[in-house]
Amino acid sequence: MEDERARTVFVPPRRERSVVEAHLAEAGLRPTSQRSLVYEVLLGHAKEHPTADEIFIQAKQEKPDISMATVYNCLDALVRHNLIRQMHLDRAATRYCPNMHEHAHFLCEECGEVSDFEGQAKPRQSGFKVPREFKVTQVEMNMRGLCPDCTEKGVSR
Ligand SMILES: [Zn+2]
Ligand SMILES: [Zn+2]
Repeated sequence: MEDERARTVFVPPRRERSVVEAHLAEAGLRPTSQRSLVYEVLLGHAKEHPTADEIFIQAKQEKPDISMATVYNCLDALVRHNLIRQMHLDRAATRYCPNMHEHAHFLCEECGEVSDFEGQAKPRQSGFKVPREFKVTQVEMNMRGLCPDCTEKGVSR
């Protein structure tokens, strides 16, 4: 189905350690083992848009001595070097997204799955009245509703 394909267009780069390290170095970040691991975990769970806590739990499985503070430091560094971005979908904790293509987020209110819809937001054609004097540097688009799976299950709200 057309819609089905449109839902997840982002294919994370391969997750082998060497590829991940090259990616970090390219972004001007020293590829320490902790940074590589945190980035790897996020790439592996791109669909979930995990929180720092969730990333910590995953990272700990591979590196039991990693601390929450280290995970936060790594995430900060990755954000600053434009490898990942922070996002807020609900009142819950910050989530992280490794998809740096322009995209909108869709949160399923039933199962909590987050989908990325790629595309270009054109603020002046969005239907919102953006006065000419305002220079828009970033548009963040968050949608909520029901994903196809939940719609199919006949969830009524
Ligand atoms: Zn995303
Ligand atoms: Zn759903």
